[in-house]
Amino acid sequence: MGEIIRVQKGTKDILPADIAVWHKMEASALEIFTRAGYKEIRTPIFEATELFKRGVGDTTDIVNKEMYTFEKSERSLTLRPENTAGVVRSYIENGMHRLSAPVKLWYKGAMFRYERPQAGRQRQFHQVGVEMFGIEDPSADAEIILLALNYLKKLGLPNLSVELNTLGCSKCRKEFRALLIETLRPHYDKLCDDCKERFEKNPLRLLDCKVESCKAIFALPEVQKVIQADYTCPDCSLHFEQLKSYLDNVGINYTVNKLLVRGLDYYNRTVFEIKSENLGSQNAVCGGGRYDSLVEQLGGENTPAIGWAMGMERLAALLSEEKEEKLDIYVISNNKLEALKLAERLRALNYSVEFDMAGKKFTKQLEKAAKTAYFAIILGEDELNGGYLTLKNLETAAQIQFPLVNLADFETHTYKFISTNSSEWLQSKLSMLSSGFVM
Ligand code: ATP
Ligand code: MG
Repeated sequence: MGEIIRVQKGTKDILPADIAVWHKMEASALEIFTRAGYKEIRTPIFEATELFKRGVGDTTDIVNKEMYTFEKSERSLTLRPENTAGVVRSYIENGMHRLSAPVKLWYKGAMFRYERPQAGRQRQFHQVGVEMFGIEDPSADAEIILLALNYLKKLGLPNLSVELNTLGCSKCRKEFRALLIETLRPHYDKLCDDCKERFEKNPLRLLDCKVESCKAIFALPEVQKVIQADYTCPDCSLHFEQLKSYLDNVGINYTVNKLLVRGLDYYNRTVFEIKSENLGSQNAVCGGGRYDSLVEQLGGENTPAIGWAMGMERLAALLSEEKEEKLDIYVISNNKLEALKLAERLRALNYSVEFDMAGKKFTKQLEKAAKTAYFAIILGEDELNGGYLTLKNLETAAQIQFPLVNLADFETHTYKFISTNSSEWLQSKLSMLSSGFVM
């Protein structure tokens, strides 16, 4: 026997026992986003390295430290660390600016970042996200934040808080940037290496630093005075006020957090995060913002845009109580051919069905059925000889027999059975079963 090969550090199998929450996250995404007019897009998992350098930014951790980059045929390729850059590339390449605005897209899939693995932080993880192109108006910002909250509500997630900030535009940021550099310069030596490196290139990003000694510097009164003051130009200020007014009017609670700058270089104006109290230190489930210059920066036409992404592992951690999905019917029989034929007929009627292939004893088959299915259909010697089936409700243990040939009989029998024995959910399941059953 060879040595066991194990899963890579920072990656995980999502096992069948845990898949129900993933199905719920995916189905809810399709439902909620479709309702708001978003269409799904699937872009490749690897892209030209250049896309992320230009699209995410050379001063970000993602690009500097976290990318999985490799060479193939003298081309530098990178596994996507996030999906906005890929979606923007596709938007430009496929001429989506010619579609009437807004163009609304959503995606889900695996992302790759070479980070130190810990709770809520993996090297391969999954995001679900949305992007909206072509609208500068703050109603777009409001809609997209509501969309995130609606999705989280659909998943039934409690204790969420929304944090909001505006980064202004490049014009209004200039003044803030200069003042921030000037105020922080006396503390330069005490900053961490990352902050030192970003000091001139992207001083706003310093505010995102998680190092305690840096956080202490930003908490100093003279630094706070600069951070808390308002430098936004009249246009950006109006945009932010309008967004807040939209949120106030639809009853969304939020807090303005001036330290919220987000880890990516492309954001301007609105940035936001949604956090859950129920997660430990990795408590951000959703991050997003406006990126009005990115499309142009990547070679497209000047197009305002906004989007967000959620970490699905972090959502899954909050949802972990989802029940395993059960089968509709387990066929119990010692005649594998007849069981297979019946299973095929039921599957053709859209029921999920399994039957015993291992040649287990009846009692063992029944135990297996009780664990994995809502109903059992017993197809024993008596049933086969007599031309009937026995349908057993595995929740109540009640059972009825019905002839294999006569559908009308079957319906009357099951109707009585339903009305006397089953819970509401099972009743609806059973009536579906009887109405679609043609023997
Ligand atoms: P963080 O500050 O937690 O590192 P981030 O700013 O790097 O987050 P984004 O790039 O905005 O995260 O990604 C959006 C979401 O994706 C995050 O809010 C988080 O839920 C999730 N996420 C990011 N990195 C990871 C990771 N390595 N493992 C699992 N989930 C992640
Ligand atoms: Mg990160």
